[in-house]
Order: sequence, then structure tokens, then C-alpha cells
Amino acid sequence: MIAQNFEYSSPASLEEALQMMAGGDAKILAGGMSLIPLMKLRLATPGHLVDLSRVPALDGVTEEKGNIRVGAMTTHFQVESSALLRARCPLLAAAASHIGDMQVRNMGTIGGSLAHADPAADYPAALFALEARVRLLRVGSDRTIALSDFLVDTFTTVAEAGEMIREVIVPVEEAGTGVSYQKLVQPASGFAIVGIAARIRKSGGKISMARVGVTGLGPMPYRAVGVEKMLEGTAGTADDIRKAASVVADGVDANTDIHASAAYRARMAAVYAGRAIQAAVSRAA
Ligand SMILES: Cc1cc2nc3c(=O)[nH]c(=O)nc-3n(C[C@H](O)[C@H](O)[C@H](O)COP(=O)(O)OP(=O)(O)OC[C@H]3O[C@@H](n4cnc5c(N)ncnc54)[C@H](O)[C@@H]3O)c2cc1C
Repeated sequence: MIAQNFEYSSPASLEEALQMMAGGDAKILAGGMSLIPLMKLRLATPGHLVDLSRVPALDGVTEEKGNIRVGAMTTHFQVESSALLRARCPLLAAAASHIGDMQVRNMGTIGGSLAHADPAADYPAALFALEARVRLLRVGSDRTIALSDFLVDTFTTVAEAGEMIREVIVPVEEAGTGVSYQKLVQPASGFAIVGIAARIRKSGGKISMARVGVTGLGPMPYRAVGVEKMLEGTAGTADDIRKAASVVADGVDANTDIHASAAYRARMAAVYAGRAIQAAVSRAA
């Protein structure tokens, strides 16, 4: 199918892009991996596209005062292969490496993925476990909010008209933290049937910090606080992990679709939570 007619702009600076967005009816074009198919199916019919690909300095990974800033236009491949992220925040690089295929990773961006808010996207599992923040810009406004406040529902965020994601902020990982991202893949698209990210720190032989992010299971990704609470203070034995992982789907209205029933997804979430936590525990110093 062919998209309906639209105006196309390619600003050369961030200020110009924000001005073009200010009217509220323009839509950002990033990698186009999600937006262009939606336009071709006429499920999205924007009248004006603002292409960010010529705006300088919107991509890239930098470290500053204990945080790592990942520009919105950083591609999945750049995230996956960033030496800084691999060394200082390996969970995010690991999640990026699981996205789709090489073509998608070369074009798709972290900002586009978060703005699209697909309930089965890979990044949110890692970003929930990392307690990431999202910086949003609009003419006259610059705010940074927690990911948990940014994602509000399936394909829905709190971003307001004219607002763009500038960057995603994650912490520099403390030495000795074990991390793992484990995903049950839907083989046709590469999306997660379920995906679980785990971050574990140990102290004195016990788990002192556990963070677990979940994607693919329900209407939106989330942090599995119940699992984290059951892990913290334990020695992280196989039995501790099995018991904690078993509550990962509690209270979640699991999705049913042509790929998996709700019951299967919930069962797989527990299995993959167990695997991710086990791997993270074994990597925690
Ligand atoms: C075949 C295929 C397989 C895929 N498999 C996976 C997978 O396994 N895992 C996974 O997580 N994803 C997967 N994806 C999705 C992919 O990660 C997309 O790259 C991503 O969802 C959208 O990023 P984009 O840069 O292409 O954004 P676009 O498609 O350009 O934009 C998507 C939406 O975000 C908005 N937007 C873009 N950038 C910004 C910004 N900076 N600020 C505000 N709004 C913005 C756009 O206006 C649009 O509404 C797959 C896609 C395809 C086509």
C-alpha cells in the first residue's frame, strides 16, 4: 500500500526541528522502521513528517557524572556495539543486540523504539531494570522523567504534542553487578514473546539489590517489584530464584495473540525470569 500524501521536512538543527514540531501536528521520522509500515497501512496518517536524520549530535553515547546518556537517534546497532555501554552498562547493549535483524538494528533508533511504546519491544525490559530516565524537549520546555512515568499504556506515552525524546539516561553500572537479558523470540519478527532483564548485586553472600524488567507479557512492559523483593536478602540459590521467578506474572493481564496464549506467556515469563536471574546471580561478584 502507499501512504497518503504528507509534507516532509529535514531540519539541520535541533532548534529548527523543535520549531517545526511546535504546531503540534508534525510527527518525527527517526529510523522509520515502525512509522513507515504504519503509514503504508494507513494506520498512521501524519500530515507532516520531521526527519531527524540530518540534525547533528542527536546520536551517540556519552558518560557524565555517573550517568550514561544515549541520544535519541542512536541506532540499535550503535547501542549494541558501543564500547562505553558494553563496559559501563552492558545490560542495555545486550538488549539492543536482541532486536529484530541486522537491517532493523542499522536503521531503528532507541528514541523511536521508546516513543513507539510497543509492549513487546526489547529496550524497556532493560531500561526498567536500570531505572532509566527519559529527557524530553519542546520549545520552552526541557524535562527529565522516569521511564515508569513515560510509558503509560500500549503504544502510549506521556509525551505531549510537539515534544521529542532528546536522550535516554542510564546509570553507570557498579562493579560486581551481574546482568542478563533473556528473550523468547517470536521467530518471524524477532519481537519478544517474553523478555526478561535482570540486574543483581551481592554483598556478604546475599543478594543486596535485585532489579527485574519484563516485556512482551502484558499490555506494557514493567518492573517486577514482587520478584525483586523475594530475591533481596536471600543467598540466590536455585530454590530462591525459582520461587521468586514464579511470581513474575502475578497481577498482570497477560496478552493472548496468534503467537502465544496468555497462559503460555505467563509460564514462559517465569521460565525466562528464572534464566535471567540465574545468569545475573552467577555473574555478580
Ligand atoms: C521487521 C522488524 C522487526 C523488529 N523487531 C523488533 C524486535 O525484535 N524488538 C524491538 O524492540 N523492536 C523491533 N522492531 C521495531 C524497531 O526496533 C523500530 O526501530 C522501533 O520500534 C522504532 O524506531 P525507529 O527509529 O525506526 O522509529 P520510527 O519508526 O521512525 O518512529 C516510531 C515512532 O516514534 C516517534 N519518534 C521517533 N523518534 C522520536 C523521538 N526522538 N522523539 C519522539 N518521538 C519519536 C515517531 O514519530 C513514530 O511515532 C522491529 C521492526 C521491524 C520492522
